[in-house]
Amino acid sequence: MPKTQPGAAPQGDAALFWFRRDLRLSDNAGLNRALQASRRVHAVFVFDREILDALPSRADRRVEFIWQSAAELQAALRAAGGELIVLHDHARTAIPALAARLGVATVFTNEDYEPRARARDAAVAVALQAAGIGFTACQDTVIVAPEALRTGGGKPYTVFTPYKNAWLKTLRAGDLAAHASEDHLDRLARPAKPAVLPTLAALGFEETGLAALGITGGSAAARRVVEDFLARLDDYDRARDFPSVKGVSYLSVHNRFGTISIRTLAGTAYPLMLKGNAGAAVWLSELIWRDFYFQILWHHPHVAHAPFKPAYAAIAWENNAALFRAWCEARTGFPLVDAAMRQLNQTGYMHNRLRMVVASFLTKDLLVDWRWGEQYFADHLNDFDLAANNGGWQWAASTGCDAQPYFRIFNPVSQSQRFDPHGKFIRRYVPELQAVPDRYIHAPWTLPPLEQQACGVVVGRDYPRPIVDHALQRDKALAMYKAARG
Ligand code: FAD
Repeated sequence: MPKTQPGAAPQGDAALFWFRRDLRLSDNAGLNRALQASRRVHAVFVFDREILDALPSRADRRVEFIWQSAAELQAALRAAGGELIVLHDHARTAIPALAARLGVATVFTNEDYEPRARARDAAVAVALQAAGIGFTACQDTVIVAPEALRTGGGKPYTVFTPYKNAWLKTLRAGDLAAHASEDHLDRLARPAKPAVLPTLAALGFEETGLAALGITGGSAAARRVVEDFLARLDDYDRARDFPSVKGVSYLSVHNRFGTISIRTLAGTAYPLMLKGNAGAAVWLSELIWRDFYFQILWHHPHVAHAPFKPAYAAIAWENNAALFRAWCEARTGFPLVDAAMRQLNQTGYMHNRLRMVVASFLTKDLLVDWRWGEQYFADHLNDFDLAANNGGWQWAASTGCDAQPYFRIFNPVSQSQRFDPHGKFIRRYVPELQAVPDRYIHAPWTLPPLEQQACGVVVGRDYPRPIVDHALQRDKALAMYKAARG
């Protein structure tokens, strides 16, 4: 595997820096390393066909987001006297070929902890080594490296709270310090001719209307989202669970593609937490969850396709395809679930509370394997990140490390009453329920027939009847989990 230790990079005349999920110039650990270690640094981004060709839709918001980020990066590198080489190819073979063509001594990049990325990087490192070229991957994606923390018994943590305590206890100032990548841009290699950024159409993709959703790729946009959030940070702990309120940061897509440094974010929240700011403390906790799931995936890569807890591999999921389709298409008859799924389908984002609600509903009400839902999220979330998505699904399905106990099953109606008490979020995404009184909006099938007529929503005609009976399904789920546990 590639090395991440400081000092491992050979001093060289020329280097290649490979951008992946770190699409920014500022506080970029690997870029900084490359600039420190070499006199001339070329930069490349690959629209990797191994990933793009497998995407289910040609209208993918993430590809547009990445394209916008690459365009911004290319302009910024040019303004600094360098260039961003952009390839549309298989990174596995294209990176070693480019490195050889440019005659660099080392390829620098930032670590990617996903199993497929690790396999790709191992193959790239071998090909580079055969050509006498070094490969150095730096820690940048997470605040604390997956290898850094161990329990007293020397094992990786599998429970969040002790992990978080150890994370906070052992955090060093250097973990949050910015890397001065922007200070050495004079070492960027000057190109003989400008590189071409292929259009989205040339990449085989369509525009998705990101702008209309208020989402923009790139670091300038990320900084605007941060500023907007910091003005609301103090209220985060109180507002974060209510999807109709602008209470969360909406930074996840930027965190996914590294248009903002995770150290910058933690470095802002940490001192505020020390001063007793409850909003900052809870938000920092969320960033620690992110590190936690990266280290789970790193140490236990089997979670990418199997339950963390082997006993739950025996669950006899019902996997009713019609029920799964109704969930995907927001036709379950449970308004909060349907509103959440419409939010995902229409915008590529879903509020965290709702991710928990719909994941619980799919697994414990519809009795569908969590991996079906995980894949649906993977196809549709702008911020899809294997570690966090897998962690979230296994948590909700109670198959994961530190998951909620299997007998704790969310009631979709009481979750709705608690977290969207006036149905504001529901009405935003399920406008056909606009006129339903607050009292009934969480369970419209309980509205007396005459009142259904009066407010113009006949259940079964204008809005679906509930596709399952929660109480019955709950009992079935409990039996299913119990049987799997033997
Ligand atoms: P904020 O509340 O502002 O949180 C700040 C940042 O912390 C987020 O941007 C994210 O980077 C990180 N974060 C927050 N919560 C978590 C968490 N539970 N686990 C890991 N990181 C977290 N998050 C993803 O980034 N990608 C996913 O694919 C993903 N899938 C999920 C699937 C399920 C079933 C569940 C329950 C959660 C999932 N999450 C995922 C975690 C969380 O829902 C999102 O990170 C959050 O909703 C993003 O919105 P935000 O940026 O406004 O979050």
